[in-house]
Amino acid sequence: MAAQLLVDYDAFEIADPSFARLILENAPLERLAEGFRWLEGLVWMGDWNCLLFQDLPNDRTMMWRDGEGASLWRSPSHFANGQARDRQGRLISCSHRLRAILRTEYDGALTVLADRHDGKRLNSPNDVAVAADGAIWFTDPVYGISSDYEGGVRQSEKKPALYRFDPRQNVLQAAASDFDGPNGLAFSPDQSLLYVAETGDQTGRDPKQYIRVFGVGEKGALSGGDIFHRIAPGYCDGLKVDVSGNIWSSAGDGVHCLSPRGELLGKIRIPYRVSNLCFGGPARNRLFIGGSHTLYAVYLNTRGAVAY
Ligand code: MG
Repeated sequence: MAAQLLVDYDAFEIADPSFARLILENAPLERLAEGFRWLEGLVWMGDWNCLLFQDLPNDRTMMWRDGEGASLWRSPSHFANGQARDRQGRLISCSHRLRAILRTEYDGALTVLADRHDGKRLNSPNDVAVAADGAIWFTDPVYGISSDYEGGVRQSEKKPALYRFDPRQNVLQAAASDFDGPNGLAFSPDQSLLYVAETGDQTGRDPKQYIRVFGVGEKGALSGGDIFHRIAPGYCDGLKVDVSGNIWSSAGDGVHCLSPRGELLGKIRIPYRVSNLCFGGPARNRLFIGGSHTLYAVYLNTRGAVAY
């Protein structure tokens, strides 16, 4: 096994006693790889026994495998951001440059699943989650077309929104459009709830830094949308849910663990701002964390709700 670059046994911060049952006191935070610009789109590929992640400004997708470290998997990535797998195991990616949702077929070919709504270009799909019924949910803020760093400056044609794409019917629907900057998203374990981060304009006077929660009904009809939790410091760029319904969110000082009621249970302190994260490993009990330009991981005493 390759030596880890760094281990830290003191990364956990307990805010509620129940957090102690979700962590392992002898499992340190590990620094797995570095030398990137900005990590995104972490997704565990169980059948490949590896992690895929984006080095977004460098327009490349990286692979990390235990004992081997990080290597280039695909370039260009079309400035891909969030990623997930569909019910058939195919990789679903949000592309800033193509302003589209992409699917990687089994032979490696790329299919554009959605790039327009009502005849207008999407902005820059940011993050994606696939539901049990196969529907592909994604957020579409303007972050990827606001600078040349993460895709390229382009004119926005659409208000930021949350979308649901049905690949069987080839239908793209706006599920909610009362967002300034929808970002990370994840379902509760029974998929009756959908958590969506609102990060608005972080350069504005009153930056939005909270997670909303929606009820998910028949054919993806949403209800509610109230503020579930305000992140501080920083904001929620990406989030994932464990099998008990706890929410693991990126934040300005690391990863925050929230109870299903929205209370802060504890933190994993990371020295850099966290972009995104995912559960992985054969037991889904290892949390992989994108800490700005560095890849971290820590074993937890829980498992990711999504089975890959
Ligand atoms: Mg994001």
